[in-house]
Amino acid sequence: MKVLVLGSCVIGVTTAWYLAEAGHEVVVLERRGGPALETSFANAGEISPGYSSPWAGPGVPLKAVKWLLMRHAPLALRPKLDPAMLEWLLRMLRNCTAARYAVNKSRMVPLAEYSRDMLRQLRAETGISYDERSRGTLQLFRTQKQLDGIGADIAVLDEFGVPYEVLGPEGCMAAEPALKYAAGKFVGGLRLPGDETGDCQMFTERLAAMCAERGVRFRFDTEVWRLCKEGSRVTGLLTSSGVLSADAYVVALGSYSPMLLRQVGIKIPVYPVKGYSLTVPITNADAAPVSTVMDETYKIAITRLGERIRVGGTAEIAGYDLRLDPSRRVPLEHSVTDLFPFAGAATQASFWCGLRPMTPDGPPLIGPTPIVNLYVNTGHGTLGWTMACGSGRILADLLSQREPEIDVSGLTLGRFQKKEPRRKAPRRAAKPEKNPEELQAG
Ligand SMILES: Cc1cc2nc3c(=O)[nH]c(=O)nc-3n(C[C@H](O)[C@H](O)[C@H](O)COP(=O)(O)OP(=O)(O)OC[C@H]3O[C@@H](n4cnc5c(N)ncnc54)[C@H](O)[C@@H]3O)c2cc1C
Repeated sequence: MKVLVLGSCVIGVTTAWYLAEAGHEVVVLERRGGPALETSFANAGEISPGYSSPWAGPGVPLKAVKWLLMRHAPLALRPKLDPAMLEWLLRMLRNCTAARYAVNKSRMVPLAEYSRDMLRQLRAETGISYDERSRGTLQLFRTQKQLDGIGADIAVLDEFGVPYEVLGPEGCMAAEPALKYAAGKFVGGLRLPGDETGDCQMFTERLAAMCAERGVRFRFDTEVWRLCKEGSRVTGLLTSSGVLSADAYVVALGSYSPMLLRQVGIKIPVYPVKGYSLTVPITNADAAPVSTVMDETYKIAITRLGERIRVGGTAEIAGYDLRLDPSRRVPLEHSVTDLFPFAGAATQASFWCGLRPMTPDGPPLIGPTPIVNLYVNTGHGTLGWTMACGSGRILADLLSQREPEIDVSGLTLGRFQKKEPRRKAPRRAAKPEKNPEELQAG
């Protein structure tokens, strides 16, 4: 089949790779001048199946209020008259029960683990390098209360068979020797040795080059404006480079996916949650982290990427506003200089922000849509780098009518699809009940 993949960040490019491997003729359309120039550009660099959790969980609404009021707050909410924001927040709240959390997590962990395994396989087959390291991640607790509260997380890790180590301060310093310069500032940590790290942008750029060697065509500076539909099929795309058509279409536009899909009557609950990062040049390698240290207090990830440290965090719910708020730099700088005071010059760091394409329940949306030749691969939220290779492979399998290697029933649009309204013997013809969780397809 000829397949048009829309979007060339980490999800679009991994999708293109696996589609090409499956024998399809692939063209990637991207409005920017190259791959990985939006959210996949400077994320925190964690490949972290161990931390694959939905944000919506029991206790989160209360914690969110606390976070909003904190100094160096990890969360910011800029309310707008935006029905999509309100709807997304309400849906997220509804997912904050223990039962929903368990279901959502059980959909995310297998995908993240599968994805990490796919990434390892890809690395072995192609030799792709991207400042990668396989040295685990360390969640660092500054207070005893945080350390005492890890029971629920550990139960989940046990349930999914994810290896972990609970460490005291000495153990943390053995895993991350440069933490000795911050001794006394933390009481312990939870280490996930199976996690990995790497530069998502470098990976995407290099994989795009490998895709091109295999015959995938990239059309950069091409903005997709409209999906054209006839009956139950997409017949073409109206783009800034003219009308383009194919046998099948994959929407991998991150936070911008809902706009395009809405044109053909498909409503997906994906909303942007802005995050920020700093990239700090290392001046003293011995004083820098060896892998990822997750500063639990501020919800900030500090990752070693070659000769740089990437510091990522903050969840700002502010719509599609991509302005760099200078006040958001402060918590990132504080965290990295507090834990790794001699590693680099944080004042010379480059500052960046991106929009995480978040679903309200956590798992992404991968697979077919009610329109027969239209597919989605989006909504990866905080874990798009972690889940990219698995998601790309699954999409290619589904499009090629092959059975994916893991159960994907909880990852498709089906989970938001219209349920039959329950009928209560109406006295007169009633309008069907509107289920707020439903996918509206037309
Ligand atoms: C601060 C921060 C830290 C993060 N840390 C991590 C981490 O440590 N680990 C992890 O796994 N994940 C992390 N993430 C999440 C991860 O970066 C995202 O989930 C991932 O980058 C999403 O990739 P994507 O390809 O779906 O979307 P994007 O990267 O946003 O790509 C969408 C692409 O579509 C293109 N596009 C949009 N509209 C159009 C159009 N109309 N026509 C043509 N092209 C269009 C865009 O230009 C862009 O290239 C982090 C995110 C942030 C913000």
